[in-house]
Amino acid sequence: MPRQLVIANWKLHGSIGQVKSVLGEVAKADLGANVGVCVPFPYLMLAKQILHPTRIQCGAQNVSQYHIGAYTGEVSAGMLADVGCELVIIGHSERRRLFGETTESAGIKMRAALDAGLMGIYCVGESADERREGRAEQVVIEQLQVLKGLPLGLFAVAYEPSWAVGSGMVASEEQIAPIHALIKNELDPRVRVLYGGSVKANNAASILAVEHVDGVLVGGAALSSFEFIEICKAAR
Ligand code: PGA
Repeated sequence: MPRQLVIANWKLHGSIGQVKSVLGEVAKADLGANVGVCVPFPYLMLAKQILHPTRIQCGAQNVSQYHIGAYTGEVSAGMLADVGCELVIIGHSERRRLFGETTESAGIKMRAALDAGLMGIYCVGESADERREGRAEQVVIEQLQVLKGLPLGLFAVAYEPSWAVGSGMVASEEQIAPIHALIKNELDPRVRVLYGGSVKANNAASILAVEHVDGVLVGGAALSSFEFIEICKAAR
């Protein structure tokens, strides 16, 4: 079985000092998992420089759906690859909720990322209301449609119920396992499916032990080198 994946999502956090100190510690640690760290755009080259001697990959948290042209403020997949980036998070619930990202635009971004040789981490997940209304499965299936036909092995899916993101409310094993099984069933059993939402050092081992969980996407806890290294060590 391939090693589990642990991906850090720094969101809108960090500074040159914090990137140096946290990633400096992470780079020195003996990590069993496949690890990736997604920092804000301005810190990508610095992160790459620090992580260069390790197997840890470097990633972004968004990418433009356009390749080149008059698109002020955008960053293309080709540019990310050019600075040494290996992965990119696409369709995160915060981008969908706060910045108007749609499943359609996220699908176009996935194609742009894969064309540039980046691994796409495509986020899906229902809101609290959607779960209450019994629509979690249907929402996730709809979000997955844009991945159909993409080459397997070049992307992973992160199941992040938005009610679990940054809330301290982790989804239970009974909530995680069936949705991960559904994602593999909809796409392919070989697609790697990560869980995200309030993963911490003290719950990582039990989440990583859930059936069909191929890794975790870690937000808040990834800003502490101690927490993040513990989570990576919990991976199989
Ligand atoms: P969290 O964020 O670990 O802080 O809940 C996860 C994510 O948004 O990827």
